[in-house]
Amino acid sequence: MSEDSPSPPTRFGSGWISGVLSVLLSGLGLGAVLCIQNWDLLTMIEAREHYARYLPVLRGVVHVVLVTGFLLGVVSVTLRQWKYLGLAGCCLVFVAALLGGSQVELADRPGKPFYLGLDYFLLSLIGTAAIFVPMERLFGRREQPIFRSGWKTDLSYFFISTLAVQISTLLTMKPAMVFFAWAQFESVQSFVRSLPWVLQFFLIMLSTDIVQYWVHRVFHMVPWLWKFHAVHHSTDAMDWLAGSRLHIVEQVVVRALSFLPVFILGFAEPPMIAYVIFITFHATFIHANVRWDYGPFRWLLATPKFHHWHHAIEREAIDKNFAVHFPLLDLLFGTFYLPDQWPSGYGVHDKVPRGWLRQLFYPFLPAKTSLAEGTPTVQVHE
Ligand SMILES: [Zn+2]
Ligand SMILES: [Zn+2]
Repeated sequence: MSEDSPSPPTRFGSGWISGVLSVLLSGLGLGAVLCIQNWDLLTMIEAREHYARYLPVLRGVVHVVLVTGFLLGVVSVTLRQWKYLGLAGCCLVFVAALLGGSQVELADRPGKPFYLGLDYFLLSLIGTAAIFVPMERLFGRREQPIFRSGWKTDLSYFFISTLAVQISTLLTMKPAMVFFAWAQFESVQSFVRSLPWVLQFFLIMLSTDIVQYWVHRVFHMVPWLWKFHAVHHSTDAMDWLAGSRLHIVEQVVVRALSFLPVFILGFAEPPMIAYVIFITFHATFIHANVRWDYGPFRWLLATPKFHHWHHAIEREAIDKNFAVHFPLLDLLFGTFYLPDQWPSGYGVHDKVPRGWLRQLFYPFLPAKTSLAEGTPTVQVHE
């Protein structure tokens, strides 16, 4: 490695892997310490009693994570010419230690009804990364680094949307409760609840996907709504994190409208919980850099390739594949597009700025450039 080399090495033995793991583990450990210290503000109400029950175990895990993060930081600093990763990891552990480390005191305050889901962010990140990072390494569609272009923007979306889990759940459910209580009929709901859970699960998927299909299509068709949705399409690399890039306005509108049939039909709780778990996985999966294609079943349930074509730069793929779950909806409404090959690239021809904050304001600002003048956030991979 010469001194004027443009980018630091990332190969095994260069201290990069230990540095990244150090920052990751130390950050997770510090986050957990903050959660324990400020449990009344930074953890989900529903989860607090579970955390209290397993607190000694949690403290043990946090201790191991922080010590490992620190040791990996030292390894990285020793191996690497560029010390910032290892030093950052060690600094995070130092801050966690100043707060009390794994033995940090629990705040002696009554639990607050409003919270930020820092615990939800940490658990979601660990869970999703643990499933999808190995999946993309083993079954990836194309060679792509974990830290590809735009990953910080997408992680910001992931962080903010999980942190705001309480307010986003409220905004999802409240409009239906306020404006559509008249549409709930006990006879209909008790019939729906009497159906087998598997059938209820399927009906939740179908009803939400029909609504979601049309809301998605309208976001593509109406120019001022498209600016919100263009943010989602602005990612030029597809992976497990890319699906997080959703403008807050779009996220609230799509979720609130998709919740309507669920609210009116009044499904039982177990299939609802199963659906929430399923959509969390499936919405991530269809964006993932994974080549799985379930053969003849690819018509039944959306595959990564099906949704990757929705993000494709090819002209023939524009305004195709709106469904999240059922490709048959696109077949039915004439928007299905699924050739054998994969798209040549992803992105959008609008000049969407980079970064969470600038993308937040982008739909509200007047268009400065036309499609022809703009630098499209399109990237061709092949
Ligand atoms: Zn779209
Ligand atoms: Zn998408």
